[in-house]
Order: sequence, then C-alpha cells, then structure tokens
Amino acid sequence: MIVFNVPPYTGKELEYIRQAVEKQKICGDGEFTKKCNEWIEKRSGAGKCLLTTSCTHATELAALLADIKEGDEVIMPAYTFVSTADAFVLRGGVPVFVDIRPDTMNIDEKRIEEAVTDRTRAIVPVHYAGVACEMDTIMEIAARHNLMVIEDAAQGLMASYKGRMLGTIGDFGAYSFHETKNYSMGEGGALLIRDEKYVEEAEILREKGTNRSKFFRGQIDKYTWVNYGSSYLPSDMNAAYLWAQLLVADEINDHRLALWRQYYEELAPLRERGLIELPVIPKDCVHNAHMFYIKAKDLAERTALLAFLKENGILAVFHYIPLHTAPAGKRFGRFHGEDVYTTKESERLLRLPMFYKLTAAEVFYITGKVKEFYRV
Ligand SMILES: *Cc1c(COP(=O)(O)O)cnc(C)c1O
Repeated sequence: MIVFNVPPYTGKELEYIRQAVEKQKICGDGEFTKKCNEWIEKRSGAGKCLLTTSCTHATELAALLADIKEGDEVIMPAYTFVSTADAFVLRGGVPVFVDIRPDTMNIDEKRIEEAVTDRTRAIVPVHYAGVACEMDTIMEIAARHNLMVIEDAAQGLMASYKGRMLGTIGDFGAYSFHETKNYSMGEGGALLIRDEKYVEEAEILREKGTNRSKFFRGQIDKYTWVNYGSSYLPSDMNAAYLWAQLLVADEINDHRLALWRQYYEELAPLRERGLIELPVIPKDCVHNAHMFYIKAKDLAERTALLAFLKENGILAVFHYIPLHTAPAGKRFGRFHGEDVYTTKESERLLRLPMFYKLTAAEVFYITGKVKEFYRV
C-alpha cells in the first residue's frame, strides 16, 4: 500500500528532542525555537519569524495585528483550508470569496479589485501547492486601497515569487509545520512579520498579553500583563523536531522536486492526448513540490480514478471543498461575483502521494497505474 502522506522524518529528530529534554527546557522559546526562527529569517529574508503552535494560530495573530474588527471584510479564495477564513471570522470579520484561476488554483488577481468595498481591510492570498499568487498585482491593489496583505503561505516554505520567498511579501505571512507539510513539527507554524513596527506587539499577543519576551532578552527586569493576548508559542520539543528538518531543508526540497518532475514527465503523454491536466508553474514562480496533482475530466472520472488507484494499493485524495459551499462559509462569508472555476476545478483535482520518503520506484508504479486507467 502506498499511503498519501508520511510525516517527514530525517533521523536526527529524536536526538534533538532528547537534548531539549536533558536541558530541562521544554516550554516555549527555548534554544530550538530560537534556532528555527533564526534559520527561517535568514533563509526567507523575513523581518521577523515567530514560531507558533500552528499556521491557524499564526493567521490568528496576523488578524489581531491587522486589527480586524466586527464587519471588516477580508478577500480570499474559497478554494482553501478552513483556517484561512477562521482566523478572521473569530474577530468578527467577513470572508469575501473571490474565484480562482484554473491554471494555478490560486485567487484570480483580476477579480480582486471588483470585490473591494469601503469595509474591506485585507487580502489573503493562498499560495496553493507552494506556487505563488500573482503578488505584484495583489500588492498594487492593496496599496491603492490601503489594505493589509496576509499571505497564507502554509504550503510555501522554500518557494518564491520573483526571487522573494513566499510569506515575506505581504505585511504578514503564515507557514504551517503540520505533519502533512514539507517540513513538520507535528502541529506548528510560524508568523512572518515584514515590518519591525509590529514585532513587539506580536510578541506580546503570542505570550498571553505579557512582555515576557522582552524580559527574557534582559530588556526589562520583570514582566507584566500589558495587553490582551493568548498562548501561541510551541513547546521546544516540537521545535527540536522541526530543527532536524531545517538542517537538511535543501535535501528534502531537492528530493521532492525530483519526484515532482518524475510525475510530470511520466504523465506528460496523458496531457498531450488531452486526457488529463498537469500543474502549471508560472514563469515568475519557483515552487517547492509541496503537492503533485492532476485534473481529471470531471467529478465522475475523478471518483473512478480514485477507486481504481485504491484497488491497486495507492491512496490518492481530493482536496478542499470550496468554503462558500460549507455551512459555516454560507453563514459567515459571501462569494463575490460568479463561481466559474472554484467548484468546477476543485471537483476535478486529484492529489497523488507526495512525501519525503516516497521513492522513484513508487512514483513509477503510481504513474503506471494512472496510465493503465487511461489505457495509455
Ligand atoms: C495546512 C494549511 C493550513 C493550516 O495549517 P495548520 O498548521 O494545521 O494550522 C492553513 N492553510 C493552508 C492553505 C494549509 O495548507
């Protein structure tokens, strides 16, 4: 059986967790958390990185920093994970869903401006599969209307747009280190902050509304409750797990990219015959092989292909149910304009197994079965 995902494990994780335990320092903001923050800052060029308990929580922090209030509108795609919307709904915000582009499954930048009203406060681009949204256009619209940009870069570490790392272009960016992502700590994430002016407030919000981070740096001699806040910092044991992977981040990335290219080349004949569609990587984007998906003709064909692969020991899966069609999406948000591609494209999309421990032989077996299904 080839499963859909195996959490990344490189071999050093347990050793680093043991080190954290032996230091008797397993709460948040210990040595491994600092190492991870610094590594991400250096690698991504982010002004500041703060590890969090999840990408959901990083996005919640961004919503707090952006001061999203009751009735504020936030523009985002409906083809995304629930967290993208949840973080703003919790603050009373209204998700305004805009259609996606069929080529990248990302928000259609050409549909954003028509959705802007005088209640709009932010745009939340989601970089699907680690392939960047059209950020120049999005940043231009945001500047014109004085909107914040919060990148849901959950899938985006090690991917870039015009040479800039995803998550560092907007005001805030959120990464995920959930076990399904390229780099993991079980549950975890990171908030990226572009402008220095938000750093102190972010640290306070993340540390239960206290100035404890300043205290730890020796900048004040006792810490106190200075604002509202919550607890968004992960245990250093989790950070230790992540650290093992950041140290070999390029190796992980290269291996995934090799698998991705193998899938692409093996399945190209099916695309040439018009049987399936393959992912599109626009020329300004460097992706990170977070995902390999194909698109079948329609929902019925996808369902049949999923079943065929399962019979042959391969666990392929579909992805998001568009948020505007879910009960909470209907209650809290609205779709602006026409849903031309969001539902249609999401029903055709099928994700093939993609993880660090996947082998070339397994990819060959999988692509062979996809070809067999299409009788090629
Ligand atoms: C995984 C994911 C999230 C949520 O990440 P968590 O770390 O589980 O909170 C949010 N948005 C997108 C696009 C994701 O892929």
